[in-house]
Amino acid sequence: MGLFSKFIAKIKGENSFAPADWQELESELLASDIGPTLTRELLESARKVKSENAEEALIATLTSHLSTESRLPITNPDGTTVIMVVGVNGTGKTTSVAKLAGRIKNSGAIVIVAAGDTFRAAAVEQLQTWGARIGVEVISGKAQGDPASVAFDGMKKARDAKADYLVIDTAGRLHNKSDLMDELEKVKRVVEKISPVNEVLLTIDATTGQNGLEQAKIFSSAVGVTGIILTKLDGSARGGIALAIESALHIPIKWIGTGESESDFAPFDPDAYILGILA
Ligand code: GDP
Repeated sequence: MGLFSKFIAKIKGENSFAPADWQELESELLASDIGPTLTRELLESARKVKSENAEEALIATLTSHLSTESRLPITNPDGTTVIMVVGVNGTGKTTSVAKLAGRIKNSGAIVIVAAGDTFRAAAVEQLQTWGARIGVEVISGKAQGDPASVAFDGMKKARDAKADYLVIDTAGRLHNKSDLMDELEKVKRVVEKISPVNEVLLTIDATTGQNGLEQAKIFSSAVGVTGIILTKLDGSARGGIALAIESALHIPIKWIGTGESESDFAPFDPDAYILGILA
Protein backbone atom coordinates (compact mmCIF):
# COMPACT_ATOMS: atom_id res chain seq x y z
CA MET A 1 0.00 0.00 0.00
CA GLY A 2 1.33 3.45 -0.91
CA LEU A 3 2.07 6.17 1.54
CA PHE A 4 -1.13 8.07 0.86
CA SER A 5 -3.56 5.20 1.20
CA LYS A 6 -1.76 3.88 4.29
CA PHE A 7 -1.96 7.30 5.85
CA ILE A 8 -5.63 7.83 4.99
CA ALA A 9 -6.50 4.36 6.29
CA LYS A 10 -4.83 5.15 9.57
CA ILE A 11 -6.57 8.48 9.98
CA LYS A 12 -9.91 6.91 9.14
CA GLY A 13 -9.45 3.90 11.33
CA GLU A 14 -7.91 5.33 14.46
CA ASN A 15 -8.27 9.05 14.10
CA SER A 16 -4.87 9.33 15.68
CA PHE A 17 -1.33 8.60 14.63
CA ALA A 18 1.40 7.15 16.84
CA PRO A 19 4.67 9.18 16.98
CA ALA A 20 6.40 6.49 14.92
CA ASP A 21 3.72 6.85 12.21
CA TRP A 22 4.35 10.60 12.00
CA GLN A 23 8.06 9.92 11.66
CA GLU A 24 7.42 7.42 8.90
CA LEU A 25 5.18 9.89 7.09
CA GLU A 26 7.83 12.60 7.45
CA SER A 27 10.63 10.45 6.07
CA GLU A 28 8.48 9.26 3.16
CA LEU A 29 7.56 12.83 2.27
CA LEU A 30 11.21 13.86 2.41
CA ALA A 31 12.08 10.88 0.20
CA SER A 32 9.60 12.14 -2.41
CA ASP A 33 11.81 15.26 -2.81
CA ILE A 34 9.17 17.85 -2.03
CA GLY A 35 11.73 19.34 0.36
CA PRO A 36 11.78 20.15 4.09
CA THR A 37 9.57 23.26 3.96
CA LEU A 38 6.69 21.60 2.15
CA THR A 39 7.07 18.47 4.26
CA ARG A 40 6.72 20.52 7.44
CA GLU A 41 3.67 22.33 6.13
CA LEU A 42 2.04 19.14 4.95
CA LEU A 43 2.57 17.48 8.31
CA GLU A 44 1.05 20.48 10.08
CA SER A 45 -1.97 20.33 7.84
CA ALA A 46 -2.20 16.55 8.24
CA ARG A 47 -2.28 16.90 12.02
CA LYS A 48 -5.37 19.08 11.71
CA VAL A 49 -7.35 17.01 9.22
CA LYS A 50 -10.51 15.24 10.23
CA SER A 51 -11.06 11.67 9.16
CA GLU A 52 -14.00 12.37 6.86
CA ASN A 53 -12.16 14.84 4.63
CA ALA A 54 -8.59 13.62 4.95
CA GLU A 55 -8.03 13.00 1.23
CA GLU A 56 -9.39 16.36 0.16
CA ALA A 57 -7.47 18.25 2.83
CA LEU A 58 -4.11 16.72 1.92
CA ILE A 59 -4.65 17.07 -1.81
CA ALA A 60 -5.70 20.69 -1.27
CA THR A 61 -2.54 21.42 0.73
CA LEU A 62 -0.32 20.01 -2.00
CA THR A 63 -2.32 21.64 -4.80
CA SER A 64 -2.05 25.04 -3.13
CA HIS A 65 1.70 24.87 -3.80
CA LEU A 66 1.35 24.39 -7.54
CA SER A 67 2.13 27.36 -9.76
CA THR A 68 -0.85 29.42 -10.87
CA GLU A 69 0.94 30.40 -14.11
CA SER A 70 -0.56 29.05 -17.34
CA ARG A 71 0.75 25.67 -18.45
CA LEU A 72 -0.21 26.26 -22.08
CA PRO A 73 2.62 26.45 -24.61
CA ILE A 74 3.49 30.05 -25.52
CA THR A 75 3.28 30.70 -29.26
CA ASN A 76 4.17 33.52 -31.58
CA PRO A 77 1.08 34.72 -33.46
CA ASP A 78 3.19 36.75 -35.92
CA GLY A 79 5.68 34.19 -37.17
CA THR A 80 7.93 31.35 -36.10
CA THR A 81 7.46 30.26 -32.48
CA VAL A 82 10.95 29.95 -31.00
CA ILE A 83 11.55 27.50 -28.18
CA MET A 84 14.91 27.22 -26.42
CA VAL A 85 15.49 24.09 -24.33
CA VAL A 86 18.03 24.44 -21.51
CA GLY A 87 19.21 22.17 -18.71
CA VAL A 88 22.15 20.41 -17.13
CA ASN A 89 23.79 17.60 -19.15
CA GLY A 90 22.17 14.26 -18.55
CA THR A 91 18.77 15.65 -17.55
CA GLY A 92 17.26 14.58 -20.88
CA LYS A 93 17.48 17.89 -22.72
CA THR A 94 18.39 16.59 -26.18
CA THR A 95 15.88 13.74 -25.98
CA SER A 96 13.19 16.23 -24.95
CA VAL A 97 14.02 18.51 -27.91
CA ALA A 98 13.46 15.56 -30.22
CA LYS A 99 10.26 14.43 -28.52
CA LEU A 100 8.86 17.97 -28.54
CA ALA A 101 9.75 18.46 -32.21
CA GLY A 102 8.11 15.12 -33.02
CA ARG A 103 4.96 16.16 -31.21
CA ILE A 104 4.83 19.50 -33.01
CA LYS A 105 5.36 17.79 -36.37
CA ASN A 106 2.58 15.29 -35.63
CA SER A 107 0.24 18.21 -34.99
CA GLY A 108 0.75 19.20 -38.63
CA ALA A 109 3.07 22.18 -38.07
CA ILE A 110 6.44 22.76 -39.76
CA VAL A 111 9.29 22.51 -37.25
CA ILE A 112 13.06 22.93 -37.54
CA VAL A 113 15.56 21.90 -34.85
CA ALA A 114 18.89 23.66 -34.16
CA ALA A 115 21.47 21.31 -32.64
CA GLY A 116 23.09 23.90 -30.38
CA ASP A 117 24.84 21.55 -27.95
CA THR A 118 28.00 21.80 -30.03
CA PHE A 119 30.26 20.88 -27.10
CA ARG A 120 28.86 17.38 -26.94
CA ALA A 121 29.43 15.75 -30.34
CA ALA A 122 27.11 12.91 -29.34
CA ALA A 123 24.26 15.37 -28.80
CA VAL A 124 24.45 16.59 -32.41
CA GLU A 125 24.58 13.03 -33.76
CA GLN A 126 21.77 12.02 -31.40
CA LEU A 127 19.56 14.82 -32.76
CA GLN A 128 20.41 14.01 -36.38
CA THR A 129 19.39 10.40 -35.79
CA TRP A 130 16.18 11.54 -34.12
CA GLY A 131 15.56 14.05 -36.94
CA ALA A 132 15.85 11.33 -39.60
CA ARG A 133 13.52 9.10 -37.60
CA ILE A 134 10.80 11.69 -37.00
CA GLY A 135 11.21 13.50 -40.33
CA VAL A 136 12.36 16.85 -38.95
CA GLU A 137 15.16 18.99 -40.40
CA VAL A 138 18.09 19.44 -38.00
CA ILE A 139 20.49 22.37 -38.46
CA SER A 140 23.96 21.73 -37.05
CA GLY A 141 27.36 23.42 -37.16
CA LYS A 142 30.97 22.44 -36.60
CA ALA A 143 31.90 20.36 -33.54
CA GLN A 144 33.03 22.69 -30.74
CA GLY A 145 31.67 25.58 -32.83
CA ASP A 146 29.77 28.57 -31.48
CA PRO A 147 26.33 27.45 -30.24
CA ALA A 148 24.91 30.93 -30.87
CA SER A 149 25.88 30.73 -34.53
CA VAL A 150 24.09 27.37 -34.94
CA ALA A 151 21.02 28.83 -33.25
CA PHE A 152 21.23 31.89 -35.53
CA ASP A 153 21.52 29.70 -38.64
CA GLY A 154 18.53 27.71 -37.42
CA MET A 155 16.57 30.92 -36.90
CA LYS A 156 17.42 32.20 -40.39
CA LYS A 157 16.43 28.88 -41.92
CA ALA A 158 13.16 28.81 -39.96
CA ARG A 159 12.34 32.36 -41.03
CA ASP A 160 13.17 31.74 -44.70
CA ALA A 161 11.23 28.45 -44.72
CA LYS A 162 8.36 30.15 -42.86
CA ALA A 163 8.51 27.35 -40.33
CA ASP A 164 5.90 27.40 -37.58
CA TYR A 165 8.42 26.38 -34.92
CA LEU A 166 12.14 26.43 -34.20
CA VAL A 167 13.32 24.28 -31.30
CA ILE A 168 16.87 25.03 -30.13
CA ASP A 169 18.98 22.54 -28.18
CA THR A 170 21.67 24.16 -26.01
CA ALA A 171 24.80 23.15 -24.13
CA GLY A 172 24.44 21.96 -20.55
CA ARG A 173 27.88 21.39 -19.15
CA LEU A 174 27.93 22.87 -15.70
CA HIS A 175 31.58 22.74 -14.74
CA ASN A 176 31.74 26.46 -15.24
CA LYS A 177 28.34 27.83 -14.31
CA SER A 178 28.85 31.47 -15.23
CA ASP A 179 30.35 30.58 -18.63
CA LEU A 180 27.34 28.43 -19.42
CA MET A 181 24.86 31.09 -18.34
CA ASP A 182 26.72 33.75 -20.38
CA GLU A 183 26.59 31.47 -23.37
CA LEU A 184 22.86 30.78 -23.00
CA GLU A 185 22.17 34.50 -22.71
CA LYS A 186 24.23 35.01 -25.87
CA VAL A 187 22.27 32.33 -27.77
CA LYS A 188 19.04 34.07 -26.80
CA ARG A 189 20.37 37.52 -27.70
CA VAL A 190 21.68 36.44 -31.09
CA VAL A 191 18.47 34.61 -32.06
CA GLU A 192 16.45 37.65 -31.00
CA LYS A 193 18.22 39.75 -33.63
CA ILE A 194 15.76 37.99 -35.94
CA SER A 195 12.81 36.95 -33.80
CA PRO A 196 11.92 36.78 -30.08
CA VAL A 197 12.48 33.59 -28.11
CA ASN A 198 8.92 32.83 -27.01
CA GLU A 199 9.47 29.93 -24.66
CA VAL A 200 12.47 28.77 -22.60
CA LEU A 201 11.92 25.25 -21.31
CA LEU A 202 14.16 23.83 -18.58
CA THR A 203 14.64 20.07 -18.27
CA ILE A 204 14.68 18.81 -14.71
CA ASP A 205 15.40 15.15 -14.00
CA ALA A 206 12.69 13.88 -11.63
CA THR A 207 15.27 11.63 -9.94
CA THR A 208 17.63 14.49 -9.20
CA GLY A 209 16.41 15.44 -5.73
CA GLN A 210 16.73 18.86 -4.17
CA ASN A 211 19.55 19.77 -6.55
CA GLY A 212 16.84 20.40 -9.15
CA LEU A 213 15.65 23.45 -7.22
CA GLU A 214 19.15 24.93 -7.34
CA GLN A 215 19.33 24.26 -11.10
CA ALA A 216 15.96 25.95 -11.64
CA LYS A 217 17.10 29.05 -9.70
CA ILE A 218 20.32 29.39 -11.70
CA PHE A 219 18.78 28.89 -15.13
CA SER A 220 15.73 31.06 -14.48
CA SER A 221 17.81 34.00 -13.30
CA ALA A 222 20.01 33.76 -16.42
CA VAL A 223 17.50 33.09 -19.20
CA GLY A 224 13.98 33.55 -17.81
CA VAL A 225 12.58 30.02 -17.84
CA THR A 226 8.90 29.95 -18.92
CA GLY A 227 8.25 26.28 -18.23
CA ILE A 228 9.70 23.01 -17.02
CA ILE A 229 9.98 19.65 -18.71
CA LEU A 230 10.06 17.10 -15.91
CA THR A 231 11.96 14.09 -17.28
CA LYS A 232 12.40 10.49 -16.16
CA LEU A 233 9.10 10.34 -14.31
CA ASP A 234 8.95 6.69 -15.41
CA GLY A 235 11.63 5.81 -12.85
CA SER A 236 11.15 5.22 -9.16
CA ALA A 237 11.14 8.94 -8.37
CA ARG A 238 7.87 10.54 -7.39
CA GLY A 239 9.15 13.82 -8.79
CA GLY A 240 8.30 15.85 -5.69
CA ILE A 241 11.10 18.21 -6.71
CA ALA A 242 8.76 19.74 -9.30
CA LEU A 243 6.33 20.76 -6.57
CA ALA A 244 9.22 22.26 -4.59
CA ILE A 245 10.20 24.27 -7.70
CA GLU A 246 6.65 25.42 -8.46
CA SER A 247 6.15 26.41 -4.84
CA ALA A 248 9.42 28.33 -4.53
CA LEU A 249 9.81 29.83 -8.01
CA HIS A 250 6.28 29.69 -9.50
CA ILE A 251 7.60 28.26 -12.78
CA PRO A 252 4.93 25.95 -14.26
CA ILE A 253 5.74 22.39 -15.28
CA LYS A 254 4.47 22.11 -18.84
CA TRP A 255 5.63 18.70 -20.06
CA ILE A 256 6.66 15.36 -18.65
CA GLY A 257 9.01 12.72 -20.02
CA THR A 258 8.24 9.15 -19.12
CA GLY A 259 10.73 7.09 -21.13
CA GLU A 260 13.18 7.11 -23.99
CA SER A 261 10.89 6.91 -27.01
CA GLU A 262 9.09 9.63 -28.90
CA SER A 263 5.69 8.87 -27.46
CA ASP A 264 6.94 9.09 -23.86
CA PHE A 265 6.16 12.78 -23.69
CA ALA A 266 2.94 14.48 -22.60
CA PRO A 267 1.49 17.69 -21.20
CA PHE A 268 1.75 17.85 -17.43
CA ASP A 269 -1.44 16.87 -15.61
CA PRO A 270 -1.41 18.52 -12.14
CA ASP A 271 -4.14 16.34 -10.62
CA ALA A 272 -2.52 13.07 -11.68
CA TYR A 273 0.84 14.39 -10.51
CA ILE A 274 -0.36 15.26 -6.99
CA LEU A 275 -1.93 11.83 -6.63
CA GLY A 276 1.31 10.29 -7.95
CA ILE A 277 3.40 11.97 -5.25
CA LEU A 278 1.34 10.38 -2.52
CA ALA A 279 0.38 7.13 -4.22
P1 GDP B 1 21.08 15.76 -22.11
O1 GDP B 1 22.53 15.56 -21.78
O2 GDP B 1 20.39 16.57 -21.06
O3 GDP B 1 20.84 16.27 -23.48
O4 GDP B 1 20.40 14.34 -21.95
P2 GDP B 1 19.96 13.25 -23.03
O5 GDP B 1 18.76 13.73 -23.79
O6 GDP B 1 21.12 12.81 -23.81
O7 GDP B 1 19.44 12.10 -22.05
C1 GDP B 1 20.29 11.48 -21.13
C2 GDP B 1 19.78 10.03 -20.95
O8 GDP B 1 18.50 10.05 -20.33
C3 GDP B 1 19.62 9.30 -22.28
O9 GDP B 1 20.01 7.96 -22.08
C4 GDP B 1 18.11 9.38 -22.54
O10 GDP B 1 17.64 8.32 -23.33
C5 GDP B 1 17.58 9.32 -21.12
N1 GDP B 1 16.26 9.96 -20.98
C6 GDP B 1 15.85 11.18 -21.41
N2 GDP B 1 14.56 11.42 -21.05
C7 GDP B 1 14.14 10.31 -20.38
C8 GDP B 1 12.89 9.94 -19.73
O11 GDP B 1 11.89 10.68 -19.69
N3 GDP B 1 12.87 8.70 -19.13
C9 GDP B 1 13.95 7.87 -19.15
N4 GDP B 1 13.84 6.68 -18.53
N5 GDP B 1 15.12 8.20 -19.72
C10 GDP B 1 15.22 9.40 -20.34
